[in-house]
Amino acid sequence: MFEISKELQDYQYKIREFAQNNRDLANYMDMSNEGGEKILKELGNKDLLGMKIPTKYGGLGLGEIAFAIATEELGAEGGNIAHTLHTQLNALQLLISIGGDSAKDLIEDGVKARKIFAVGVTEPEAGSDVASLRTTAKLEGGKYVINGEKIFTSSASFADEILVLARTSGNIGDREGITLFRVDAKSPGVQVQKLDLIGMRGAGVSYVKLNNVEVSKDSIIGKEGDAYKGAIKALMIGRNGYAGIGVGIARGALEATIDRVNKRVQFKKPLIENQWISFNLAEAYIEVEASRLLTWRAAYLFDKGIEALTEASMAKYYAAKTAINVTRLAVQFHGGQGLIKGNKVERLYRDAKIMEISEGTNEMQLIAVTRYLKR
Ligand SMILES: Cc1cc2nc3c(=O)[nH]c(=O)nc-3n(C[C@H](O)[C@H](O)[C@H](O)COP(=O)(O)OP(=O)(O)OC[C@H]3O[C@@H](n4cnc5c(N)ncnc54)[C@H](O)[C@@H]3O)c2cc1C
Repeated sequence: MFEISKELQDYQYKIREFAQNNRDLANYMDMSNEGGEKILKELGNKDLLGMKIPTKYGGLGLGEIAFAIATEELGAEGGNIAHTLHTQLNALQLLISIGGDSAKDLIEDGVKARKIFAVGVTEPEAGSDVASLRTTAKLEGGKYVINGEKIFTSSASFADEILVLARTSGNIGDREGITLFRVDAKSPGVQVQKLDLIGMRGAGVSYVKLNNVEVSKDSIIGKEGDAYKGAIKALMIGRNGYAGIGVGIARGALEATIDRVNKRVQFKKPLIENQWISFNLAEAYIEVEASRLLTWRAAYLFDKGIEALTEASMAKYYAAKTAINVTRLAVQFHGGQGLIKGNKVERLYRDAKIMEISEGTNEMQLIAVTRYLKR
């Protein structure tokens, strides 16, 4: 697969233009640690948000490659704007994988950004090991009462609803007995505290306390006690979209650096004339192209109906490494300028570090690949 369809090219053109027009917003979000809702509202208004969502749910039905294109294009301007887009699409994928047609109205609202969602899986005591979550939902007097803590919940500071994974039966560590609930973020008992992270700033990443939060029985998405498998699958499908962010961050940093080293003259010649610099940038270019190919291959396989979980893990792992390596070089070859707050490469450098931890750490991706090798 070396060529994308005309339809995808058109989408790429539109989303690239959109991303470039929102460069200042990415910077503002980084500086202020707020504003993520703006990017979603804009994307929704311009009908660019539902790229991978099937048309029967109001989406564009362009599939996973379109998702990877969108996250790359936004990522090239700011990891934070791409991360915010990714969170909304992850939530919609969860609704599709677990709720299906019963969640149609919610998905349609999400595609238009009439509703912004956060996804509460990770907890202070349950990170990579999702089944060890401790949040509980107990049926009392016809309602569920939810108690627990979530952490690193992206978009939570501006979300309308938080999709919360909670235990309705069984014991800590069991894969059965986990249920997905939609929780109004303004419900009594929901406390959201925004975190001050090094990167992906403005994406609303928060600590969420759920203290005796009452929800009705129809707040359950899918079947009670049956959300674990669907949730893990949805999150894994999301990995190639997250890989796209890494490709974008690396590409954005590389483009800015190529521009800089062609113009900047030291010792009477442009910096690019130094072989150390040009070789490093040539390698960086190869890494960006390779990460995109891995990402698009995983996306292509998902679009063919193949569960390309190993491929998505490889893409996410390699794109994260590439983002870190290329942004480090970018800062280095910008010299002191690359260290000044407000410089794009400085911002992308901080966003890149998040890539190795969020959406499954690098180690978790290696575990997935190892599992494949052992078969
Ligand atoms: C910016 C950001 C946004 C996020 N957004 C969301 C969100 O919207 N919703 C959500 O639910 N979560 C979100 N997360 C949480 C993210 O998914 C977790 O941080 C991630 O899964 C890792 O969990 P942890 O931080 O608890 O690390 P831990 O699981 O405690 O891991 C710590 C370290 O140990 C390593 N490790 C753990 N187990 C093993 C093992 N078996 N073998 C080898 N190494 C191992 C890990 O790879 C890591 O390096 C977000 C995180 C970040 C940083």
